[in-house]
Amino acid sequence: MKNSPPGRVPKDFIVLSRQLLQLANQGATRLEFLRAASRLLLTFTRCDDLEVWLSDGPLHYRWTCASDDSSTFQVSGELERFRPFLDTLDEPIRDILEAVLDGRIHEQDPERTANIPSEMTYDGTWWTPKTSAISNNEKRRSGMKSSLPGYGSLALIRINVDDHTHGVLILSANTANFFTPQTIENYEAIAQTLGMAIAGRRAQAALKERVKEFTCLYGIAHILEHRDLSLADSFRQIVQLLPPAWQFPEMAAARIELDGKVYEAGATDKLIHRQCADILVDGKRRGRVEVGYNCDREDFAEGAFLHEEQSLLEVIAREISHFVERHEAGEQRVRLETQLLHADRLATIGQFAAGIAHEINEPLGGILGFAQLARKNAGVPQQTVADLDQIVAAALRAREIVRKLMLFSRQTPPAKSMIQLNQVVEEAVAFLRARWTERKLELVRDLDPDLPELLADPVQIHQVAVNLLVNAIQAIPDTGRITVRTRADGSAVKLIVEDTGVGIHPDLLPKIFNPFFTTKDVGIGTGLGLSVVHGIVSSHGGCIDVFSQPGHGARFDVTLPLDGPDPRQESAS
Ligand code: ADP
Repeated sequence: MKNSPPGRVPKDFIVLSRQLLQLANQGATRLEFLRAASRLLLTFTRCDDLEVWLSDGPLHYRWTCASDDSSTFQVSGELERFRPFLDTLDEPIRDILEAVLDGRIHEQDPERTANIPSEMTYDGTWWTPKTSAISNNEKRRSGMKSSLPGYGSLALIRINVDDHTHGVLILSANTANFFTPQTIENYEAIAQTLGMAIAGRRAQAALKERVKEFTCLYGIAHILEHRDLSLADSFRQIVQLLPPAWQFPEMAAARIELDGKVYEAGATDKLIHRQCADILVDGKRRGRVEVGYNCDREDFAEGAFLHEEQSLLEVIAREISHFVERHEAGEQRVRLETQLLHADRLATIGQFAAGIAHEINEPLGGILGFAQLARKNAGVPQQTVADLDQIVAAALRAREIVRKLMLFSRQTPPAKSMIQLNQVVEEAVAFLRARWTERKLELVRDLDPDLPELLADPVQIHQVAVNLLVNAIQAIPDTGRITVRTRADGSAVKLIVEDTGVGIHPDLLPKIFNPFFTTKDVGIGTGLGLSVVHGIVSSHGGCIDVFSQPGHGARFDVTLPLDGPDPRQESAS
C-alpha cells in the first residue's frame, strides 16, 4: 500500500473487504467491531479521521475514530440528541449529513453547496477536495467535538446495511485534494462492504446470543427434570447457568431468591446495572431472579441489556415458578399419601387397641371392685390393706390407660355441643398454670377474637389442648417459647401449638401417634398423649399436621370442622 496511491490497488481493496467480513464473523460486540474496522479503514484510506453514523430503526449511533486510535461512541433514540454536534457544522455540510443519513441526498438543492468546491457521485456520495471555505471553528461547542470542520478534504459516503439500517461513513483528511474521483469510487465500494459487515456482525452476534440463551434454557430444563434434586440444589445449579447466557459473562453476576433464601453466582450486592423478573407461585410473589453487571462499559451507552435478555430472564423466572409449583404439589401429594397410609395404620392399631381395651375393661372392673370390697372387710390385717391399696391404685392406673386407648380407638363417642375454642384453650392454659410458672416459659397466646363456634365435645377438645401443651412444655429442655394460636379457616377452625423445643427427628415423625410410642423416660411419658389427640381429632372429623425440624421446635396444627364430623364418616367409624 505504501508506495501506491491510496485505495488504488484492487488487491488491497479485496484484502480489506475480506478482513472486514472476517471481522464480522468473529462474534465481536458492536464497539469491538467498530474499533477494529476503523483501524483497518484508516490504515487503508490513510485518512486522519473517520466517523460512522448509523440510523438503526429508532436508534441513532455515532462512532468517531482518529488515526491516533482515540474514539467516541454515542447512541440516541432521536437524531435531535446529536443536534449540538450537528450545530457545530457549517450549514451546507449539516444539511448534507442529515440528507445522506435520511437517504434524501438526491433531493439536495445543488445551489446550497454551490459556494463549496464539491462533487456528488451517482451513488449519493458528497465530497470536497477542499474544506477551507467551510471551516468554522468558532462554531465548535464543548463536549461535541467534530472532526469535520477544519479538514482539508471531506467525504460523506452512504452505507446501506439492511432495509431498516443505513448510515454515513465520513472520511476526513488534513490535507486538501486528498480524494480523487477514483479513490471515492473505491471508498463507495468499501462503504458497501462495511454495510454488509455491519449486518453480518449483527447477525453473528444475535446468533451467538441465541445459542447462549438456548444453552442456558437447555441446561435449566436438564436440571429441572432431575427429580432427586432438592429445590435448593436445583437453584444452586441453575444460578450458575445465568451469567454465561448474558452478553458479557465475565462481568455478569446472578442471584435467585426464593422465600428469603438466596442462591448466587458471583457477587450481586454491588451491581450497577441489574434486571430482574419475579417468581410467582400460584399467583403469589415468592422471590425473584436477577442478573446484572458490577462495572460499566462503553457499550452500555445503548443500555446494559438486550431486549432478549429481559425476555430470557422472564422465561427463566416462569420456569422456576412452574418448577416450585410442581415440587410443592408433589410434596403435598406425598404428604397426603403418607397421611392416608398413616391413618390406615392407626385405624388398624385402633381396632386392635379397642379389642384389648374391651377385653381388659371387664376383668379390670372385677379386680378393682373386689379389691375395694375386700379392703372394707373388718379384721383384714394391716399388711393386706396396704397390698389391697396397691392393687386399687394399679387397677385405677390401668383403667386410665384403657380410657385413653378407648379415646384413641374412638370407642368414646364425643358429647357434642356448640363450643368456643378460645375458651377451651384458655381453660387448658389455666389448668397448666403451675407448670408455666415452675418452668418460667414464655407463653404467647394469639387467639383469633372472631373465631366462630364449633360443634365439639368440650372435655375432649380440652384434653387435646392439654396434651399438646404438655408435650410442648416437656420438649423445651431449658427456656423457650410456646405459642398457642387459633384461626378461622373457612368452614373449620385451627388450633396451633408451636414450641421452640428439641423438635422431632424425621424418622420418628411417622411413629409419634402410635399408642405407647414415647421417647421420654419411664414415669414421664406413656406414649398415649398424641394417640389420644389423634383419636379425638379424628372422631370430630378433623385432622392434625406436624411440622418439625430437629433442634428447631415443633408445630402441631389441629383442624376441626365447624359442624363436627361428616355423619357418614361418623357412622362408618
Ligand atoms: P408421651 O408424651 O407420653 O411420650 P405422646 O404420644 O404425647 O407421648 O408423644 C409421643 C412422642 O412424640 C414423644 O415421646 C416425643 O418423642 C414426641 N413429641 C410429641 N410432642 C412433641 C413436641 N412438642 N416436641 C418434640 N417431640 C414431641
